[in-house]
Amino acid sequence: MTDLPMSPLMGQMMDQPLLISTIIEFAARHYGDTEIVSRRVEGDLHRYTYRDCARRSRQLASALGNLGVAMGDRVATLAWNGYRHMELYYGVSGSGAVLHTINPRLHPEQIAYIVNHANDEYLFFDLTFLPAIEAMARHCKTVKGYIALCGRAQMPRESGIPLLLCYEELVEAASPDYAWPQFDERSAAALCYTSGTTGNPKGALYSHRSTVLHAYASSMPNALNVSAHDVVLPVVPMFHVMAWGLPYSVPLSGAKMVFPGPALDGKSLYELFEAEKVTFSAGVPTVWLGLLNHVVQNDLRFSSFRRTVIGGSACPPAMMDTLIDRFGVEVVHAWGMTEMSPLGTACTLMARHDALSPDERRAVLRKQGHAIYGVDMKIVDDDGTELAWDGTTYGHLLVKGPWVVSGYFRDEGGEVLQDGWFPTGDVATIDPDGYLHITDRSKDVIKSGGEWIGSIDLENVAMSHPGVLQAACIGVQHPKWAERPLLVVVRRPGIQEVTREELLAFFSGKVAKWWIPDDVVFTDALPVGGTGKIQKNKLRDAYQDYRLPTA
Ligand code: AMP
Repeated sequence: MTDLPMSPLMGQMMDQPLLISTIIEFAARHYGDTEIVSRRVEGDLHRYTYRDCARRSRQLASALGNLGVAMGDRVATLAWNGYRHMELYYGVSGSGAVLHTINPRLHPEQIAYIVNHANDEYLFFDLTFLPAIEAMARHCKTVKGYIALCGRAQMPRESGIPLLLCYEELVEAASPDYAWPQFDERSAAALCYTSGTTGNPKGALYSHRSTVLHAYASSMPNALNVSAHDVVLPVVPMFHVMAWGLPYSVPLSGAKMVFPGPALDGKSLYELFEAEKVTFSAGVPTVWLGLLNHVVQNDLRFSSFRRTVIGGSACPPAMMDTLIDRFGVEVVHAWGMTEMSPLGTACTLMARHDALSPDERRAVLRKQGHAIYGVDMKIVDDDGTELAWDGTTYGHLLVKGPWVVSGYFRDEGGEVLQDGWFPTGDVATIDPDGYLHITDRSKDVIKSGGEWIGSIDLENVAMSHPGVLQAACIGVQHPKWAERPLLVVVRRPGIQEVTREELLAFFSGKVAKWWIPDDVVFTDALPVGGTGKIQKNKLRDAYQDYRLPTA
């Protein structure tokens, strides 16, 4: 950007860098008494305010300086959603260092690979992960010390971890008079590795500028619509794409924050929603399965919950219908990815949709939505030729914008952009109103006789059957058509068992005849990865020799 031409007449506005530290200082000054409530690993509920959070973030930044952490150094976290993790979001990035959030659900070997690749200097962890740290510490060559996110009383008596420090002691000993440094807004602020199913994980390196712009844009009414009226509970973990930016957009909007800690089961979440009067939440479909099961089975109601964002994988229509029709909760279906900070689209309606019937409106809401300002998108064919926005033609989805990666950390994977556009690896249609509909990941597309079948649409139909809890559709070898769809299903317990024939008949009239799966297999559970997504590559491996009925 620095090589762009300058106008002979430049604007006369203050040239203030967009730094992450400005968000928490804004919240502390203008919403100082607003609460952050956290369920801790210790089991209790902790409460304090944005004012307290800003003070402790400054103390943490000062402590990092005492440890010798310099601008650009990487500091890792292995932690649940909680106030101490939030302090790390601000203390680390605000000081000019880079916050590297690690997904604890990854295999310890993969975690060690990531830590070494990132050259992490210090690693902050919740006590839940002590055994994982003990197992991998000797493989993490660059880490100078490990900091347990607890007070002195909870510190492990014995551990084989070199240089184990106590977070509370570190913070309390540091001065709150720390002044946030000012620097170029394009400096790196945070690092998040993709949960790639093939090859080594690759790092998306966010800047202060990209993070602040994403926080602004994602909180707008056409997107997450967060305001000072809200009480927000991010179920999406702070180790998965910065909890979709909520630790930034929530304080920026002055909303109350509620962190669930490690208790993500339906009962614990429901109790926290009710006790803290949560109005807004965000998460992947698998977490809503747990919460909805609990609420439905116990015939409960939500007293304050009004709106939720669902993304990370396609929101099953049946889940959307239950939330809207049974519980009166508005569902905003959203799409994005680690490489996009993550938000690209959100499904909120336009005035013209008022004229549609309720069913037609619901059909729009099922799509992944409209681009938010800052993100541009297009679909192209295999040769890179742009395709029409007609709602039926599908192609490879490409994006660009100020919070989309331009390459991976340490140039892993080489040049990734195609003519300045980032290839998402998703296959989609875009309708004339600009609403995106993701039909598949390109590697999950089923190619039957050279034609594409979108597996997500088939899964959505299957999951609207009352006897189906979860479904995944994969392509398996077929002698005539090369590949045909096989549906893998987990039955819903407590309901009369659905049969293969019944399920296949259920598709008729709902999708083109040649899209209907060739067979159904029932299983007890589907393989789920570190971010709560179904691992179709594992299913493909498991069923690679599956013989479809030929009749
Ligand atoms: P991640 O980087 O782990 O967040 O994964 C990003 C990928 O998740 C995207 O490229 C999509 O394939 C998928 N994804 C995210 N949101 C949705 C959605 N609403 N519907 C379908 N797929 C989604």
